[in-house]
Amino acid sequence: MRIAIAGFQHETNTFAPMGATFEDFLKHDAWPGLTRGTEVVDAFAGLNLPIAGFTQAARAAGHELMPALWASAEPSSYVTRDAFERVMSMICEDFASGPPVDAVYLDLHGAMVAEGFDDGEGEILRRVRQVVGAGIPVVASLDLHANVTPEMVEHADAIAIFRTYPHVDMAHTGARAHRLLQTILDRGPPAKAYRQVPYLTPLSAQSTREEPNRSIYRQIESLDAPDLSVDYACGFPPSDIRDCGASVVAYGSSAERVEAAADGVLARLIEAEPEFVNALLSPREAVRNAMESDAGPVVIADVQDNPGAGATSDTTGLLEALVEGGARGAVLALLQDPEVAEEAHHRGVGGKMSVSLGGKLGTPGVRPWQGRLRVAALGDGRFTCTGEMYRGTRTELGPMALLQVGDPSCDVSVVVGSERFQCLDQAVFRHVGIEPAEQRIVVVKSTVHFRADFDPIAERTLLSVAPGAHPCILRNLDYRKLRAGVRLEPCGPEHRA
Ligand SMILES: [Zn+2]
Repeated sequence: MRIAIAGFQHETNTFAPMGATFEDFLKHDAWPGLTRGTEVVDAFAGLNLPIAGFTQAARAAGHELMPALWASAEPSSYVTRDAFERVMSMICEDFASGPPVDAVYLDLHGAMVAEGFDDGEGEILRRVRQVVGAGIPVVASLDLHANVTPEMVEHADAIAIFRTYPHVDMAHTGARAHRLLQTILDRGPPAKAYRQVPYLTPLSAQSTREEPNRSIYRQIESLDAPDLSVDYACGFPPSDIRDCGASVVAYGSSAERVEAAADGVLARLIEAEPEFVNALLSPREAVRNAMESDAGPVVIADVQDNPGAGATSDTTGLLEALVEGGARGAVLALLQDPEVAEEAHHRGVGGKMSVSLGGKLGTPGVRPWQGRLRVAALGDGRFTCTGEMYRGTRTELGPMALLQVGDPSCDVSVVVGSERFQCLDQAVFRHVGIEPAEQRIVVVKSTVHFRADFDPIAERTLLSVAPGAHPCILRNLDYRKLRAGVRLEPCGPEHRA
């Protein structure tokens, strides 16, 4: 069979200050920049990405692949109309001009919001469906943070969703999407079921390594059968659209069975609502708590400044708390400030500088940190990730530096970078000569993904809320488009339209 494939990924935090332009999709960050044609298969081979898992499985099954393109940008606010239209016209033109295909696979995120299209993936699937026609199976894989809409379910024949957060199963989900597609090619389109969960869960409470998600996902996996596939997306709450939030999808040969399976998982999610824990400390509390520990390292997650959820990665609340608290043996990563990174390279190792660091990207409540810093090490931003989630991924993050705070009453260093990159891999620290396991306090700008690589070395893990553009306390958010009746947190107040 001949299968057309494409990937177009963005996770949109509509509460964040800056959006994603076409140039952002061209840029190589952790993943390759916009890649076209047959290069798509080679550029992603072996990486933990859905498209890599799908292409490997499809080739092993003997299918011929017709790749259009793959593009992603670092999470941020709205995708510009220009970027959306340019990428979509490339995909649709390639699909329309190539030889006829038997099926389509799309590697999508599920929480894209573009200017003019609140439901980015619903629009992508609608356009692809329009190009290939009604009779051709279209299957998509989605991120666990997808805000799945009725339109996505309508336009796709089947959807497979990550089942882990940290996302260690991205490639595996691509392979599951291939299995779904193969079943459709063999037996025809499946029956579908779709349910929306009536409450939002902040990312800081979604880890699948903790309860209740750990056992909920185990239950979902146990439902897998040759003619049944059930998935649950936790949703991406900082996205002000009608269909924001968690959902359940099910596909299989029997309508009765998929409806019953979706109802079963929804019932479990409603029963589990009080079990979601969102234990967040203030920066001061987190630092004080970490300093009480003799062993190390204590890992503190700066959960609201996670660039992987659209935040600026340049907030200074945790850095301030470390310095004011007189922390010793503490290091923070990754704080984005290209000007300071450049100046550090200009001064060289051992150089001293007075800086206004971070706080420049417009996050409310955030000021630059002012003080003296000493350049302890430099890096060019090119390294290979070693953790379970990004293993083998080659980054291109521009000039980086390890800067030591000059104040002798503390021993605090900060890893400064030129690009936003979620600190989910120990390689970020090693790139500038720091061995994380040997520190007393390690602060990461990440919400949950860091757990895959940092839990094995963490003596304890604390979640801290400093001001940042990735809100983890949802009840105060000013939603305008969210459907009425949804609870803004597990067991929280209902949203009124
Ligand atoms: Zn995700």
